[in-house]
Amino acid sequence: MGGIRPDLEGGHHGHTERKNAIVTGSTSGIGEGIAEALAKEGANIMYNGFGDKGAIDALVKKTADTYKVKTDYSNADMSKADQIAQLVADTEEKFGSVDILVNNAGIQFTANVEDFPNEKWESIISINLSAAFYAIKAAVPGMKKRKWGRIINISSAHGLVASPQKSAYVAAKHGILGLTKTVALETAQFGITCNGICPGWVFTPLVDKQAKDRAAKENRSEDDIKKEMLEEKMATMKFTTVEQIGGLAVFLCSPAADNITGAPLPIDGGWVAE
Ligand code: NAD
Repeated sequence: MGGIRPDLEGGHHGHTERKNAIVTGSTSGIGEGIAEALAKEGANIMYNGFGDKGAIDALVKKTADTYKVKTDYSNADMSKADQIAQLVADTEEKFGSVDILVNNAGIQFTANVEDFPNEKWESIISINLSAAFYAIKAAVPGMKKRKWGRIINISSAHGLVASPQKSAYVAAKHGILGLTKTVALETAQFGITCNGICPGWVFTPLVDKQAKDRAAKENRSEDDIKKEMLEEKMATMKFTTVEQIGGLAVFLCSPAADNITGAPLPIDGGWVAE
């Protein structure tokens, strides 16, 4: 596919250069899928997220070897403003710029609002919402200077509609779409776009945990629960895949998407259509 190559090869400074991307929370699930999709199109990738050190090192090396791009890794904690600013600064220093910023790191916790632990509320708001603000704040000056930038915020179908027991998550995911629209307006004349991706169910470790918890609570099989999750929300009866989300992220970085900004883009098998 044409992907982001035309920009990569054209180089807005008139010489061949690659785009440099940060994907937060890219050691697993959707972030890992987006990182791979961008690398496949030639972008250098700064990985971030938690997990087994050996597995992360192997992932970072594999992407570099497979796609002949530069990769690196930062263990910055997305609940810490200073570490997020440092992640952007380190990437600018190592790769020369941050052209693509994907705010993806996220966590989930479910409980009725009256039982929702305060510290869970605080950590979901900080990782799923405030982290995007801090990263955008740090990355936008360089993007404005270079007159090119792509900011992709991973919201959710829960950025557009709610489900019970998810007060913090739904608040954060609605919030990040508000942030997306404001940043889109502020950066619109600097060659920068800022959009939100709103996935429905994607079968990642984050959702696997919810399915397992529900299966245990209701004393049913996980397969049964997975089918029910699709029946409840996904008109297509199919999980969205990380490859499909990677494809949308690549599209948003391509010239065809230059005039899409401030948009919440559902990729949800019809979830929010109902
Ligand atoms: P996941 O659990 O597979 O991956 C989450 C990633 O975030 C991991 O790499 C993890 O290490 C990282 N992370 C968590 N806390 C962090 C912190 N404090 N600092 C740095 N990294 C941290 O989950 P996923 O399903 O791939 O979710 C990715 C994003 O997609 C989240 O924002 C989630 O809300 C969103 N989303 C997921 C679904 C779904 O069905 N899976 C649907 C809609 C939106």
